[in-house]
Amino acid sequence: MIIAIDGPAASGKSTTARGVAHRLGIMYLNTGAMYRALTLGIMESGIDVDNINAVRCFISGTVVEFDNNNQILLNGENVSAKVQSSSISDKVSAVSAVPEIRKAMVQVQRKIAGEKDCVLEGRDIGTVVFPRADFKFFLVADVAIRAARRMKDLQALGESCSLDELIKVILKRDKLDSTRTNSPLVQADDAISIDTTHLTIDETIEKIISKIIKLKNEEKS
Ligand code: C5P
Repeated sequence: MIIAIDGPAASGKSTTARGVAHRLGIMYLNTGAMYRALTLGIMESGIDVDNINAVRCFISGTVVEFDNNNQILLNGENVSAKVQSSSISDKVSAVSAVPEIRKAMVQVQRKIAGEKDCVLEGRDIGTVVFPRADFKFFLVADVAIRAARRMKDLQALGESCSLDELIKVILKRDKLDSTRTNSPLVQADDAISIDTTHLTIDETIEKIISKIIKLKNEEKS
């Protein structure tokens, strides 16, 4: 069983996907963390993302994987905390728009999740990575709420940023992600949209679980 959860930046996908996977006792894959890890590697190597040969060479010598605790590893180093910083958020959309990078990551994602029951979250799961996913959800929320949520996450990392600045950054990232040529952020035709603006994480998880149960029962009858 594949459950796809897509949506714009800071719409609550990660916490929701983790919670849904936990409730169902299945695997959870945060595909955004993979693009973030590659962005960190590219920044640390000083590679220009427009230099396709350098990008190709970087990808072939780089391993992005998850350990047993779902921590993201870049060439064996746990970079889970580092990849959440705003310096990575600023650059990740440019990196994830490079076709070679997407091709490599999608291959890894299909390999990790292909033979298991898994909840995957990202931007293109229901459209490109697993277009035949059993269940597809698309989370949306008002940008002010999304910025407030992101602010809490950044504060936990010891970073500070104004709400207005975060709103700008989130809108810019959404625009880059939804207007790129390759696998843009778009709701799959058969995805169920959930507005999480006024929902807690638990309520969002509950909504998704009850939709899955309802759809499964309809399938049976
Ligand atoms: O979900 P998160 O905000 O961590 O994703 C970071 C970035 O990674 C997104 O803004 C997007 O550019 C990229 N991404 C993507 N495709 C995915 C997941 C994330 O392009 N499936």
